Amino acid sequence: MEISRLPSIEKRPFATVEDPSEAIVLTTEPAWECARAISINPRQRISIHGNTQADMEAIAEACEGEVVYGIGGGLAIDTAKLVAAANNLPLIALPTVLSTDAFLTDATGVREAGCVRYLPTKTPDTVIVDMEVLCNAPASMRASGAADVLSIATAMWEWQEAEKLGENRADERVTRQAVDIGDALLQTLLDNARDIGSGTPEGLTCLFELLCMEVQLCNLCGHSRLEEGSEHYFTYALENRLTVPVLHGELVGLGILLMAVLQSQPWLQYRHALECLQINYRPTAVSPDAIAETLTHLSAYVTQHQLPYTVASTLRITPEIAERTIQTVLD
Ligand SMILES: [Zn+2]
Repeated sequence: MEISRLPSIEKRPFATVEDPSEAIVLTTEPAWECARAISINPRQRISIHGNTQADMEAIAEACEGEVVYGIGGGLAIDTAKLVAAANNLPLIALPTVLSTDAFLTDATGVREAGCVRYLPTKTPDTVIVDMEVLCNAPASMRASGAADVLSIATAMWEWQEAEKLGENRADERVTRQAVDIGDALLQTLLDNARDIGSGTPEGLTCLFELLCMEVQLCNLCGHSRLEEGSEHYFTYALENRLTVPVLHGELVGLGILLMAVLQSQPWLQYRHALECLQINYRPTAVSPDAIAETLTHLSAYVTQHQLPYTVASTLRITPEIAERTIQTVLD
């Protein structure tokens, strides 16, 4: 059994990063601005926009250099992972915001046919964490990655429900210890949500460690069922109805609340946590109509994309149920 490992983590200011190697830098304009203190030697600096496999492979084919740097949030680092893996190059990740766990994982999420697929790529060799940069990220983004820990609330519930119904594949069976550890991560997030949301070094260190442990737990399980369930499937489906990009954490946050209500869970504690985390679960770019249509089509969507068993697999969400659920969550 091979268990994916976390990358080597170096906590130090970006200003101490010096590397004369010819670098391929994959980033975004705002992220590059945050990392301007680093002293590296970019042979190419590419601003990332596309999120499909074809977009990323085109960059992988066109680039030349000795080392890949992924600087930014999820998309820039996910692209860097694919580019480094395709060219067999070392990869250094500099997250400028804790908006996802992408800098810790060994796969790249790509958008394909209206859904998300994870391609095995590579874990960064080194992650450089500058706490001051992470603390100075905009409040609305800085703890957005916490939604991928909070999603344990709905995803792990469904993973256990699937186990009771005999719906889990032989290699995705629930274990008591995975559930106990998942519960502990979720509870730690709920207990520290205010500190994390206010962006203190202690709070963001807590979030960073929770992301490490959540990824390590998924690595140990060999799948992500305990943190990726209907709240994520709702997010992937809803993305197709949006005309502007919305932060992953905001969509997942909304998905957690809706699914927790549909699961008859005590969901108010999760809304309170999102508020403490300063994650906006009601982004203006998402209309109530788009939410309602996504909910009523969710069961067809998960069937079409052959996604694992969740509450979306069996629950028939009528327009009336959708409307009531949305009102409950957003009022
Ligand atoms: Zn996620």
